[in-house]
Amino acid sequence: MNSYKKVVVKLGTNVLTRTNGALDITSISHIVDQIVQLKQQGIEVILVSSGAVGAGRSAIQLSKSLNKIVQRQVYSAVGQIHLLNLYNNLFSNHQIFCAQVLATKEDFRDRTHYLNMKNCFQALLRDNVIPIVNENDVISVNELMFTDNDELAGLIASMMNADALLILSTVDGILDGHPDKPTSKTIAEIDPDDKAIQEFIMPSKSSFGRGGMHTKFNISKKVSKLGITTFIANGKRPNIILDIMKDDFVGTKILPKKVASNIKKWMAFNELEEKALVYINEGAATVLSSTEKVSSLLPIGIIKIEGTFKKGDIIKIVNEAGEPIGMGVAQYNVEKALEYLGQNGKKALVHYDYLLIE
Ligand code: GLU
Repeated sequence: MNSYKKVVVKLGTNVLTRTNGALDITSISHIVDQIVQLKQQGIEVILVSSGAVGAGRSAIQLSKSLNKIVQRQVYSAVGQIHLLNLYNNLFSNHQIFCAQVLATKEDFRDRTHYLNMKNCFQALLRDNVIPIVNENDVISVNELMFTDNDELAGLIASMMNADALLILSTVDGILDGHPDKPTSKTIAEIDPDDKAIQEFIMPSKSSFGRGGMHTKFNISKKVSKLGITTFIANGKRPNIILDIMKDDFVGTKILPKKVASNIKKWMAFNELEEKALVYINEGAATVLSSTEKVSSLLPIGIIKIEGTFKKGDIIKIVNEAGEPIGMGVAQYNVEKALEYLGQNGKKALVHYDYLLIE
């Protein structure tokens, strides 16, 4: 039996739709029933639901002249209310409120947006409302998009300090062979540090959604570092969510690593436009990368700084060859850092609580 208190459940488009693309009311209804049971067990649940574009596509016929990007925007705008309408009806049968949260990648890059969003989620959960999150597909086009909703779900799980992330699609988990081979079996448990596992992960994608097994595994590796357990399973299997909670399920469990601080959780997911590159010598790189003990980044180990930063900015730390070591929050500005460069006994440029090693 698992003892998770807060879980993020990500539902892929194929879990929510039938093969003809229409919303699968039976499937969604069964998922809502399971979520309600989790709530009754006192578990906080956040849903990350795809399916808006799919629902829109099956609901409305658009003029052929629209380009693909605009089509997607319109489908999602139409489909999102169909989807949320359905969730709202189903949850209200159980006297439970749900709420819509639409987010863009930018909202996670900007710390103010991020904290605003987090506050809202906390308030919703406190008042027993189920947040249902999706990417704001009207605004997010092309390079502004998340890789997929798996990435969004990982961000939400880390932002909210969830204990578990359930990624539900229509595959049973990570297989130990090619999906087309009948002998391939689901791997029950994975230590994300296990390099041999990589060769099993297929980059293939499902027919409607954007995410493949590759991104699912990458997200699970990231959240694992933050102390979150990921489950990859088939959302169309009866009682799958309840079975995962009982730790008796068909699917893949990706084990968590040690717990990281909130600021590290934020940094871990942010491909921030770093203000500067800080080059460190080999000795400092070895010390920082050590798994034995934690260390701060001291000026004595710094050999060069490229770019500029203020106190509180995120800087990228690289080795002499320019290869990434990690990132961290600067305790003082670039002028002071240049003054202290290479010197002994000076205040750490990045304290270890604000340092994230790759
Ligand atoms: N946001 C998209 C939708 O609601 C889904 C993106 C994805 O499949 O990851 O349709």
